[in-house]
Amino acid sequence: KTTIRLDKMLGNLGYGTRSGIKILVKQGAVNVNGQRAKDPGMQINPHKDVVVLDGETIQYRDTVYVMLHKPAGVVSATEDNRDRTVLDLLDTDVTVLSPFPVGRLDKDTEGLLLLTNDGKLAHELLSPRKHVPKTYRALVAGEVGSSDAAAFTQGVTLEDGYVTMPAQLSVLASATDPAAAIGLSDDVELNVAELSEAANIARQAIALDYTESPLSWIELTIHEGKFHQVKRMFEAVGKKVLYLRRVSMGPLALDPSLSPGEWRELSEEEVDSLR
Ligand code: URA
Repeated sequence: KTTIRLDKMLGNLGYGTRSGIKILVKQGAVNVNGQRAKDPGMQINPHKDVVVLDGETIQYRDTVYVMLHKPAGVVSATEDNRDRTVLDLLDTDVTVLSPFPVGRLDKDTEGLLLLTNDGKLAHELLSPRKHVPKTYRALVAGEVGSSDAAAFTQGVTLEDGYVTMPAQLSVLASATDPAAAIGLSDDVELNVAELSEAANIARQAIALDYTESPLSWIELTIHEGKFHQVKRMFEAVGKKVLYLRRVSMGPLALDPSLSPGEWRELSEEEVDSLR
């Protein structure tokens, strides 16, 4: 959606409540493209329409930075014919500014996704020369161990011949019991959101019938972003990723108070930290 209601736009900018703005419009205080506005609900394209309140041109914000806890089942695109997209999860106040996802997560991957309309920042974060670290937590079928960590430090050869850059792997927990594998052991620090999700992940593993083999709950940091990279790195060492979640990107960590599907705008400090 590329438009926003006039009263919503002014309300978001702090010019009053919906009823207060209705009064302003009725009083003739608001002009749109040189014409006196009559309908507080009229649709405004903030990129094109000029809104003037009491003689002062009103600039809707021009940048937006959103942290989304992407849930499984939605695609990291701005448009899709079949699937819901990450933009469908946001409000029009934000989508009217035309944000796009900074990089992609697979449809079945959850976790931190940054959306912005700041092309320069997006470009810098995604630049292959910048090596911005991205940290993932994953439930992997099989016993992940020090030989895998060593292989990932060295670089592994993916099926297309690409050799990955050094990546840091640690095993948070490993067990044949899915609940134990996802980290419900004493020595693993998991936040509350993760604990409540843990049950779901365990259920998935059981549904996938991976209860016979050991399962490992791991954390992996990579400094590049090839297509399906984490899954393909584990394939290169003969293991399968059952569940994947991104927990950080550069200095930005997934806010533990956001459940899958929830989002918030970044604070100014967070935006600054990305530059
Ligand atoms: N690696 C993957 O395999 N999938 C993702 O979504 C992100 C990283």
